[in-house]
Amino acid sequence: MNFSELGLHPSILKAVEATGYTEPTDVQAQAVPAALAGADLLVSAQTGSGKTAAFMLPSLCRLAEPSAVKGYGPRILVLTPTRELAMQVEKAAATYGREFRRLRTVSLVGGAPYGPQLKQLSQPVDIVVATPGRLMDHMERGKIDFDRLEVLILDEADRMLDMGFIDDIQMIVARTPKTRQTLLFSATLDGVVGKLARELTRDAQRIEVARKEDPAAQIDQKLHFFDDPMHKMRLLDALVRDATLKQAVVFTATKAGAEDLSEELRDRGFLAEALHGDMPQHKRTRTLDRVRNGRVQFLVATDVAARGIDVAGISHVINFDAPRQAEDYVHRIGRTGRAGRSGIAVTLVGFRERHLVRNIERYTGQAIEVATIPGLEPTIKPRPEGGKRPWSDKPGYKGKRPGGEWKGKPGGGWKDGQGKPWGDKPGYQGGADRPGFKPRGDKPHAAAGQQQAHKPKRAERFW
Ligand code: ADP
Ligand code: MG
Repeated sequence: MNFSELGLHPSILKAVEATGYTEPTDVQAQAVPAALAGADLLVSAQTGSGKTAAFMLPSLCRLAEPSAVKGYGPRILVLTPTRELAMQVEKAAATYGREFRRLRTVSLVGGAPYGPQLKQLSQPVDIVVATPGRLMDHMERGKIDFDRLEVLILDEADRMLDMGFIDDIQMIVARTPKTRQTLLFSATLDGVVGKLARELTRDAQRIEVARKEDPAAQIDQKLHFFDDPMHKMRLLDALVRDATLKQAVVFTATKAGAEDLSEELRDRGFLAEALHGDMPQHKRTRTLDRVRNGRVQFLVATDVAARGIDVAGISHVINFDAPRQAEDYVHRIGRTGRAGRSGIAVTLVGFRERHLVRNIERYTGQAIEVATIPGLEPTIKPRPEGGKRPWSDKPGYKGKRPGGEWKGKPGGGWKDGQGKPWGDKPGYQGGADRPGFKPRGDKPHAAAGQQQAHKPKRAERFW
């Protein structure tokens, strides 16, 4: 399959060819022709599969013709969960739309000052890329009209719901023209996302690019077991000195953890910087720029802040704190091995966190290899043969859940007193249905991480 067979407008095709892509990815090959034909789409495809171009290319083609409706409002609206993703989408629009004489994009994200956004909105605009909360603010002030809107895109829809944006999304969509085309992208189309997707689209075509047996064939995944926090730090120290490591994202469970660890790495002489949701937008942007131009070797980040980040030089992902949710694992390791390159993903796990590994392995359908570093082997055997087995491995063990059976849902944290049991309830919408709930950027999710910050101590007391 060649890009020229997709039916793109010549100037878009020219811009794509200038990027050096040789052929469309699976999701692009399926979604682009369908979107060009005007269909609503529900698309699920794994991270790194090229979804941005899959929605941006066909949508941009519409801008080759002038709008049939008079007005200043956007013709394309992209909703994304985070500021970083919004910036990536805006950049993609500029890249693929570079042949257009004047492409006007505005990014409306939380954490950035209102002034420049308002100024941009007072001029005609083609594309708005927004996080739902800030877009709602502008709508409530009457600063934006959707009379000209032709395409509505929801990128990472599942994540937006996780972050409690459902009410905002529904209110935004209700204000857009019924004639719009809706393109919804999500890691999964099950559960709440599927329901929302059906509400927002008409006769949508469903495109599911099969999760490859191996979610990340070109990513070499390893586990290192640690005995105690000091051992964990020594392992990290050895890992970051690996000569094959060009750049790495190091994941921590909490924002404070990201700050502390980046400082620790800097103390040890490494070029490390933190990235998390509490940092002001300009700082986050600057940090990412410094990663992109190679001035930062280690980006120490939380799940939410690093979601969807695409930096070619990232050779390693190090899960300093093991992810609580199997799904987060897949998103984390997807920060390396981008666009066909190879990558290495290393996860540090305490013995009491083995259930997290089991959840991940069940979710990806793939066992992760246990590795050791000479001189830094753990003293406890990860999978004891014979002898005393840890209680949690006892046959018939149903978990310590009070008054009931452990349901064994991935990510449910009841078993060890961590996690957020309410987050697993069917229909749970990130708290958005609570009275007085106000979603603020990626805060709600980050706040959940914060709660966990204190609880993991429980596991650590055993060391
Ligand atoms: P997703 O949103 O599915 O996680 P992205 O849209 O961020 O993935 O794309 C991942 C990377 O793949 C980006 O660096 C992008 O430039 C690159 N990419 C996209 N399409 C192609 C293609 N057809 N050929 C090669 N690289 C591509
Ligand atoms: Mg994406």
